[in-house]
Amino acid sequence: ALTIGIVGLPNVGKSTLFNALTRNNVLAANYPFATIEPNVGVVNLPDPRLNQLAEVFGSARILPAMVSFVDIAGIVKGASEGEGLGNKFLANIREAEAIAQVIRVFDDPDVVHVDGKVDPSSDMETINTELILADLQTVEKALPRLEKAVKLKQKEAAELTAVQAAQAVLERGDTIFSSIASDKLELGYLKELSLLTAKPFIYVFNVDDAVLGSPERQAELRALVAPADAIFLDAKLEADLVELSEEEAREMLEMNGQEESGLDQLARVGFHTLGLQTYLTAGPKEARAWTIRQGDTAPAAAGVIHTDFQRGFIKAEVVHFNDLIEAGSMAEAKSRGKVRIEGKDYVMADGDVVEFRFNV
Ligand code: GDP
Repeated sequence: ALTIGIVGLPNVGKSTLFNALTRNNVLAANYPFATIEPNVGVVNLPDPRLNQLAEVFGSARILPAMVSFVDIAGIVKGASEGEGLGNKFLANIREAEAIAQVIRVFDDPDVVHVDGKVDPSSDMETINTELILADLQTVEKALPRLEKAVKLKQKEAAELTAVQAAQAVLERGDTIFSSIASDKLELGYLKELSLLTAKPFIYVFNVDDAVLGSPERQAELRALVAPADAIFLDAKLEADLVELSEEEAREMLEMNGQEESGLDQLARVGFHTLGLQTYLTAGPKEARAWTIRQGDTAPAAAGVIHTDFQRGFIKAEVVHFNDLIEAGSMAEAKSRGKVRIEGKDYVMADGDVVEFRFNV
């Protein structure tokens, strides 16, 4: 499954946020075959297109795409050296596809801060330093082997150059992910090393209502982490929201000047960070969003529904969501020539509404 690991210092609100994520499991009931592990929380990706699609097809139910989150134990100074839960922590984090780092911005004299004061940039530095040190160990271990392999012409010199460039980035205290563009890092050559800081990062600032209402303060915090994505939420508010009905939750968000819950934001940004997109299927039974990677072809997309669909793929009948809604019905979209027959090389677009033809 596509998962995002949640990390952060102790007492920053990780458990509070994670409990909101797991209590949000309304959806798990819709996916009887999905085994939800106790440390996994699932959020549905908000997608207003599904409601419109269900209207056009008279679909009985709606199944949005989901994003999963894994709770990874808190990290403390020295984790890269095996302090505390160090090694277990690093193993868990290696398995996640992206990292959501929770950072405390809220002030509360009743909640102790491990380092004595609330300081977002210092906290980020602590976490990132541990991840960077762990990566440096990995790189330093790999380099002698790689140098030898290049000498024996078993590996390309370009690979060595790429790993050395990564080493330089880590040595100056930056993460790989934040330096991809500036240092022209060749991620392809680094893949084998599974570097922690090469994973996409999302920064989750756990704030109070003052910051929720202050675009200026948010811009300052955002600048600390650019070019990574940042979201702002109040973990305590999120925990309350999941206890409410949809309508009550919307009212409470409005009262706090928010258009979207933090969990919804987290799902949306996580989806974007992971390089994912959705395509849609619809019929009288259900209107549904399916998760694929940007750049996936039609057979790969079919395979997400069932491996048989991919193996026996013949063609796909595709209409873009916007064209379908403009036409108002499948029949009208067809008569307007908006429904295309696509073959196995077709690269899917976000919002394609698809029916697959396949051999069984
Ligand atoms: P973790 O150690 O990172 O998992 O942190 P917890 O989720 O256990 O939170 C630590 C304490 O901070 C708990 O008492 C929470 O109720 C409190 N807390 C979490 N988020 C917020 C928040 O947004 N505002 C305030 N005031 N307290 C929070």
